Amino acid sequence: MSNVIEIITGDITTLAVDAIVNAANSTLLGGGGVDGAIHRAAGPKLVEECATLGGCPVGEARITKGYNLPARFVIHTVGPVWHGGGNGEPELLAACYRTSYALARSHGLRSIAFPAISCGVYGYPMEQAGAVSLAAAREASSSGDFGRIVLVQFNEPALACYLTVARRLEIRFTS
Ligand code: ADP
Repeated sequence: MSNVIEIITGDITTLAVDAIVNAANSTLLGGGGVDGAIHRAAGPKLVEECATLGGCPVGEARITKGYNLPARFVIHTVGPVWHGGGNGEPELLAACYRTSYALARSHGLRSIAFPAISCGVYGYPMEQAGAVSLAAAREASSSGDFGRIVLVQFNEPALACYLTVARRLEIRFTS
């Protein structure tokens, strides 16, 4: 079986997958970082649809269409803000990945791309977040429900960090 998990650098808004995941904030009304980039690329209809959803709690996810994006859908999940790790951050971040994969599955989507949720302004340490992301990707890939899982890093240091964690966890991937 070919490797399902890809770890790459790039701009998630350019990927033609069934769904890209947005690291949103709980209003779902747009923000900075990857959220801003996704809204800019999708066009104004995305925020219109988001406005009908009534927000999203931390650790949960909501799905919308992708509008002008090459991706068909956007799964918006709200990562935890890092407060040192003793406030449920690992469980909440794991829940973001779990609920995002579950939403994709329930819509019959087989290819999905994730940014490093919570690793920007929310301050989650990249290596610890990478371990959560990679463990979730391994579980999703072993389910056989996904043909392609892309973990998108925005720069080379982030990529190097994810690759190190993937090797330590003995996860099969392509890069
Ligand atoms: P959060 O608020 O969850 O921390 P951010 O958007 O601030 O979300 O950052 C999440 C991660 O997304 C960071 O690692 C950031 O470098 C990365 N990022 C920002 N823009 C993009 C993009 N266009 N494609 C992929 N990753 C991106």
